[in-house]
Amino acid sequence: MKFKYCPICGGKLQEKYSYDEGGVPYCPVDDVMYFDTPTPCIIVAVIRDNMLLMLKQSYTFKNSNVLVSGYVNTGEIVEETVLREVKEETGIIAGQPKYLGSYYLDSKEIIMLTFMAHYESGEVIESEEVDWAGWICIDDALNEMAEDKIGKSVVKKVIEEIKNTNN
Ligand SMILES: [Zn+2]
Repeated sequence: MKFKYCPICGGKLQEKYSYDEGGVPYCPVDDVMYFDTPTPCIIVAVIRDNMLLMLKQSYTFKNSNVLVSGYVNTGEIVEETVLREVKEETGIIAGQPKYLGSYYLDSKEIIMLTFMAHYESGEVIESEEVDWAGWICIDDALNEMAEDKIGKSVVKKVIEEIKNTNN
């Protein structure tokens, strides 16, 4: 998002020249520069043996299963977001988050950070945010994710990771 007004005082921002960034919107009252930043979001494939933790959320994709995802909170490191979202959406305790790369969603100005993580403990307890949550065999997962392009690419990377670990 490109800032025009200061979110603190509501004043119109000026352009301030920052030598490595070019012109940046600036509030002279609060002395803050508002850099143009995308919203960070995580998506995670939690694995348990040959099973994958998946959800159904009809407000995102009607006919697909999806992976756990969510926005990074202020004051939180991204690895914490990964484990918190898994716990909040499914009740599962996961560990060993491993970063798998990122995608940029132009339409929503979201930077999507992709992860895999391992099941540690707990049983699936569906939160009110989801219509269904549970374990699906990794080999079947891709067939049930037709609408979720990023989720599919994450699952493909996880399959590669598992292959490399087993070799
Ligand atoms: Zn201000």
